[in-house]
Amino acid sequence: MELGLGKHRFLTCFLIFLYVAFVFYLDNLSDSGMAVAVMYVIAVLLASGFASANVIRATGTVCVVLTVSAFVWGHYDDLFDDSLARCIFSVAAIAITTVLAVRNQRGTDVLAQRAGLLNLSNDAIFVRDLEGAIQFWNRGAEKLYGYRSYEAINAVSAELLNTKFDVRHAEAMACLVETGRWEGELVQTKRDGSQLTVASRWSLSRDERGRPRAILETNTDISERKRTEVKLQEQERERRVILNTVPAFVWTNLTDGTVDYLNERWTELGIDLSGISRRLENLIHPSDLPRWRDLWAQAEQSAEMIETECRLKTGSGVYRWMLMRGSPLMSNAGEVVRWYGVMNDIDALRQTEEALQQAHADLAHATRVATLGELVASIAHEVNQPLGAVVTNGEAALRWLHRTPPEISEVRDGLDRVIAEGQRASEVVRRLLSLSKKGVPLNKSVLNCAELITESLALVQRELMRHDIAVDVDISAPDVKVRGDKIQLQQVLINLLMNAHHAVLEVQNGARNIRISLKLSVTSDVLIVVQDSGHGICRKHQERLFTTFFTTKRNGLGMGLSICRSIISAHGGRISLQSEEGEGAIFTIELPACST
Ligand code: ADP
Repeated sequence: MELGLGKHRFLTCFLIFLYVAFVFYLDNLSDSGMAVAVMYVIAVLLASGFASANVIRATGTVCVVLTVSAFVWGHYDDLFDDSLARCIFSVAAIAITTVLAVRNQRGTDVLAQRAGLLNLSNDAIFVRDLEGAIQFWNRGAEKLYGYRSYEAINAVSAELLNTKFDVRHAEAMACLVETGRWEGELVQTKRDGSQLTVASRWSLSRDERGRPRAILETNTDISERKRTEVKLQEQERERRVILNTVPAFVWTNLTDGTVDYLNERWTELGIDLSGISRRLENLIHPSDLPRWRDLWAQAEQSAEMIETECRLKTGSGVYRWMLMRGSPLMSNAGEVVRWYGVMNDIDALRQTEEALQQAHADLAHATRVATLGELVASIAHEVNQPLGAVVTNGEAALRWLHRTPPEISEVRDGLDRVIAEGQRASEVVRRLLSLSKKGVPLNKSVLNCAELITESLALVQRELMRHDIAVDVDISAPDVKVRGDKIQLQQVLINLLMNAHHAVLEVQNGARNIRISLKLSVTSDVLIVVQDSGHGICRKHQERLFTTFFTTKRNGLGMGLSICRSIISAHGGRISLQSEEGEGAIFTIELPACST
């Protein structure tokens, strides 16, 4: 194109040269008495159409020189005739035309420079008149729409670009006329037929009298951004569908604990964002709240996944058990941006668990009562003995009282013994009552293990003594404690001792010993070992020993060891057996020690 323009210029220059030569020839040869030189003005005007100010100036100068030369050449004998006036007139006309053309050219140059600046912009910029006819079309517009400037000029922009407005065109124009500006999004069509979305900014240019004259339209291609926006919206819709399909209550919250999203499932619980004042904490059961707050305080420190079970107040005011899990979303800087989490309704599960625990507790109670029934003779004896002593000491005290004078100090000693024996009897009854009581599923407290053993032994010892069974107690860790339910752990020990008792009873010739020991394991767990010198347990039976209803006894229930196992595992421990047939059995209870 530049080459084409150069050729065009060269041709024009050549034509101007020919024209100047022709005028010079006319001026010299014709003697028409006319100011032929005035025709040079046309050459200057032609040059001003395409050349720079310097070229126009040079053309004007050449024309003046030729005019004067022709005059001198033709009138050197008489310079001051009429021709002089014509010469001066011609020179003046050429000079004035040259000055005006140069000035005009400067103005054109300034405009061209300004237009050049607009061409530097990447945006499509064009100027259109009020009818929409394009007056100026920058390079950005050429690049964006594919139309060259000469193709676009004078075309009506809305038709050329098949513009579709997101508001009505009349509204855009009204806004433009009122405020001088309008901004919006337009869908337009390129030369190749493809569509694009542009952010369009219009500015209104007015004439000196304030009347609208032209519109400067600047368009930026935002098709890619629009496509990304649409894609993001689709992804967002997809995400919502997925989150609403998840069979859980999904939530997200900010680092300050404000909930900023709940999936639709929450409406099943009658809960929405406004209903919880934007904080899940407001729905947590007061008893679970301290644990909930501790968990979140820790989570904020460690920024690790959290999990807890808690009761959540539903829209109807009823609390339901929920399993809550949350994970932090980290920024590149390693800071928590927000928390994502789910809640699962475990209320039914909890209720089943509780019913199961209750059934277990009932069963354990039943077996305890059955064991106590077995011990009833020994226990009755144990109560009877102090009662007998109470009667004997009471009678003796009466006798000392009837003496004259009464033996007061003897009476006092007798009554002291009455009290002591009465307390002994009441202690036996207390133990009996506590074991026969139907307790709540788990009632944990810190227990001294040595005391636990002593108290359990107290209930069975008389029965063992009745059958000449020696009990060896070896407590090498007297102060160790466990956290547990006293009645349940006593039940385990009594069960093991009674089983050992049954096994030892079957030994006809040989030692009848039971040994119960308390010690700490290498891992500092509490070990309670019940060992007997009974007949032991064969391998086949060992496999089924802890299963429900397994018994080898004629009147056995087969519940004892299975209950022992579930009680110990509910305390975080385990129970194990070591036995060789004919060499007795060793049951070991392992429980986590408690420091307080
Ligand atoms: P039950 O005592 O009602 O049979 P348990 O569950 O307490 O129920 O015991 C199950 C079985 O384990 C007993 O029938 C017995 O065969 C065996 N057993 C338990 N303890 C011992 C032991 N110390 N020595 C030998 N066998 C034992």
